Amino acid sequence: MKFAKRIKQVQPSMTLAIDSKAKAMKAEGQDVIGFGAGEPDFDTPENIKEAGISAIRDNQTRYTPVAGIPPLKKAIVDKLKNENGLSYSPDQIVVSCGAKHSLYNLAQVLWEEEDEILIPSPYWVSYPEIVKLAGATPVTVPTIGETQFKTTPDQLLQYTSPRTRAIILNSPSNPTGSAYTKNELGALAEFVIKKDLLVISDEIYEKIVFEGFEQTSIASFSDEIKKRTVVVNGVSKAYCMTGWRIGYLAADPKIAKAVSKLQGQSTSNPASISQLAALEALTGRNDYIVEQVKEFQARRDFLVAGLNDLPGVFCNTPQGTFYSFPDFSGIYGKTWRGKEVTGSLTLSEYLLNEVKVALVPGIAFNQDRNLRMSFACSMEDLKTGLDRISAALEQLS
Ligand SMILES: *Cc1c(COP(=O)(O)O)cnc(C)c1O
Repeated sequence: MKFAKRIKQVQPSMTLAIDSKAKAMKAEGQDVIGFGAGEPDFDTPENIKEAGISAIRDNQTRYTPVAGIPPLKKAIVDKLKNENGLSYSPDQIVVSCGAKHSLYNLAQVLWEEEDEILIPSPYWVSYPEIVKLAGATPVTVPTIGETQFKTTPDQLLQYTSPRTRAIILNSPSNPTGSAYTKNELGALAEFVIKKDLLVISDEIYEKIVFEGFEQTSIASFSDEIKKRTVVVNGVSKAYCMTGWRIGYLAADPKIAKAVSKLQGQSTSNPASISQLAALEALTGRNDYIVEQVKEFQARRDFLVAGLNDLPGVFCNTPQGTFYSFPDFSGIYGKTWRGKEVTGSLTLSEYLLNEVKVALVPGIAFNQDRNLRMSFACSMEDLKTGLDRISAALEQLS
């Protein structure tokens, strides 16, 4: 069978290898604790579920306009205005089957062979692959834990060429939990304008930020930067709706029109039922978000303190998301039964086999010193997990 070049060059998700092994072990009845979750552990709120059920009962089950139903687009326009201080008209909004789909559509519409896209690393696994699927070149910009995994205009300049078209920003970040301050974003915005680039701003974790951190959209600094920004967001993380598949983008009307055209010839509208559920998410009661963020913060505090108590381990304090990204490189080179822990992959295998905890190897996100440990799980699991990791590390010599 002959396959197209474009699919051969795409990496399968490395995070899935560990995850499927953990699930297989669990299915065998083994007591595995998974810290790989990339989604909230809370259920979709009742009012949203009811809106989905009503949509079915009311026969809202036919094709909708490709870019989304007008009330949902209006709710998104209102949200961007009220929460982010950004004015858009409905023709600047395209609703898609998840923020990932919005990002994919954008790449297909904007980039081609000669283009280079800046991606600060460690990065969400799909960014480089989405860029490659468009035929363009992802250019990774390495950041380190010592600077909270954040890039700067000076650093970006070193990676910018005449072919550079855009930068993909994700704040707060999956996998690091780091988030850019207003000042830092302001400096990045100036750089983008000066270099005549676009920013793809993935703001999917904007509501999951912790005490003392003020979340800002890079698009909000000026009209000039807003024109050059595509805001990507969705309901998956803030409203516990990962399976419903609703995301959206807000962009220059020409970009939105091109994305609609692509969507019209590929997936068409996102599910009508999910759109009505998303409308309820954006316009209905949402007091649960504050409660959930409080819970995430308590777990973060417990987990980060526990990780930093482990000898050879260092963990930054995330400003947002439900991920911690501890640096385990202090224990690399140690051995267990003659086998050396050489990096994040062997460490994650060791932890899974020996003490049955599943963490995602940082190499999947292009940072081998770290592992990603999600705290979208119970406090109980975090306690047991930390104890097990501690016991496993003590066995290394
Ligand atoms: C979860 C996630 C998304 C998108 O999720 P969808 O379910 O496709 O809306 C986008 N970016 C990052 C960084 C994520 O972690």
